[in-house]
Amino acid sequence: MFKCKNCGNSEKFFGTALERGNAVIYSISENPHEYNWRYNLSDSSWKSILKPSACFYCGSKEIESTEI
Ligand SMILES: [Zn+2]
Repeated sequence: MFKCKNCGNSEKFFGTALERGNAVIYSISENPHEYNWRYNLSDSSWKSILKPSACFYCGSKEIESTEI
């Protein structure tokens, strides 16, 4: 959970999202000139990292991380 120290917003932020882990990757292209890919998680190694950089509403970069 994250919270803006300026306005108290805890729902929406600008930032970066990273996902990483083992996956099964396969093509879903019906048109040979387009490339679309999907992936399924193959095990429990998946990790997602969220890094909020600014409040969506007030633009403050004073974001605190709060434990659930
Ligand atoms: Zn804010």
